[in-house]
Amino acid sequence: MKNEYDIIVVGAGPAGTTAARFAAEQGVSVLVLEKDRDVGYPVRCAEAINKRTADEFIKPNDKWISSHISKFSFISPNNSEVLIDFNSVQGYILERKIFDYELAKIASNAGAEIITKAYVNGLLLEGQKVSGVTAEYRGQQINIKSKIVIGADGTESRVGRWAGIKTHVHLKNMESCFQVTASNISVEPDTLYFYFGKNVSPGGYFWVFPKSCTTANIGLGISGLEGKEKSALAYLNDNLARLFPHASILTQVAGGVPCSITLEKITSNGIMLLGDAARQVNPLSGGGIASGMIGGRIAGIIAAEAIRKNKLDHIFTYEKAWYNERGKMHEVFNRLKEGIYSFTDEDFNKIMEKFQKVPLSKRTIGKLFRIALANKPSLLIDISKVFLV
Ligand SMILES: Cc1cc2nc3c(=O)[nH]c(=O)nc-3n(C[C@H](O)[C@H](O)[C@H](O)COP(=O)(O)OP(=O)(O)OC[C@H]3O[C@@H](n4cnc5c(N)ncnc54)[C@H](O)[C@@H]3O)c2cc1C
Repeated sequence: MKNEYDIIVVGAGPAGTTAARFAAEQGVSVLVLEKDRDVGYPVRCAEAINKRTADEFIKPNDKWISSHISKFSFISPNNSEVLIDFNSVQGYILERKIFDYELAKIASNAGAEIITKAYVNGLLLEGQKVSGVTAEYRGQQINIKSKIVIGADGTESRVGRWAGIKTHVHLKNMESCFQVTASNISVEPDTLYFYFGKNVSPGGYFWVFPKSCTTANIGLGISGLEGKEKSALAYLNDNLARLFPHASILTQVAGGVPCSITLEKITSNGIMLLGDAARQVNPLSGGGIASGMIGGRIAGIIAAEAIRKNKLDHIFTYEKAWYNERGKMHEVFNRLKEGIYSFTDEDFNKIMEKFQKVPLSKRTIGKLFRIALANKPSLLIDISKVFLV
């Protein structure tokens, strides 16, 4: 490890290593610091990603794909199930331990240096400008300088706060999640299952994402406000007892997912935030792998351009670039989320009942949303406003 780099990335999740890769590909020097011993572990994720985005970044390989998804199943509070068959692979359930590792290898092959067990505990400042990080590494406190620091340090991000960026997410939008990987169950390995209902997962959904016919990531996210009344774990236990009473539990994870729009400010002097740290998660699905990688690509390219042009102010173009590519869409998804999660159980039952009447060959996600939105015309107006801004 040198004591100075063009760019330091804090966190070797998918967002951080993708930013490192795209910056290093432009010939600038990049260091990634990861606090954990291993890249990609521990896994706190249900591991679903859409195929289109994943394929943009990495060649599909069964060593990091557990299952190929071509169907969605929606289960209403009264237990009626509606299936959408896309007739082609739309997504993957990853083996994230390997996937994250592969992304890190790609970044490293592009020229980025990656160091694990390096805990970043502060920022170096020159006047008002961030000029590097302080870290604990092999029992020593070290200072490493850089022209730009990229904070990709996940949901609990501290880098942004250290730089004075407001990173607070309202409790309502912080989904409280609990998940197990369960075996000795029976599921269709090509189908994602989503369950809705006040007693199932209020302000969120309960998921069963299969890794094989007999193993799945099973979990839920509930709105932080709901979690004050009854915990995510308690809801999960109820659902498991009802639906998978004989499941063996192989892993258990808990975590928060910021299901909100992106932070208002994701850059400051010498600093850029991305991935969960910037709240770049899709607020409707709670998925942050793909959007974190997209944020990583944008941030990595812009950071490298700023170095190469010797014009550090260029990093401020990242906010607009992100907004145009994804941020604006996330605002729409956020409004959809707010509308959908305000539905009563009766609303959900009615929507599913209507959707069941659509012939299987004509069912699409778009049609499902149209039926859902017909229930809440005010939401449609709200969404069209977003497109008009
Ligand atoms: C239960 C659950 C289920 C989920 N399911 C899905 C899903 O199915 N699909 C999906 O797309 N998303 C899912 N998500 C969200 C997804 O996991 C995240 O959005 C994604 O991992 C974000 O990537 P990231 O690179 O921004 O952050 P992370 O993957 O969290 O990586 C951040 C990295 O920074 C490191 N770090 C933090 N602080 C420091 C420090 N001070 N110094 C050095 N390193 C540091 C961490 O160790 C970590 O490796 C789920 C989340 C949860 C909790």
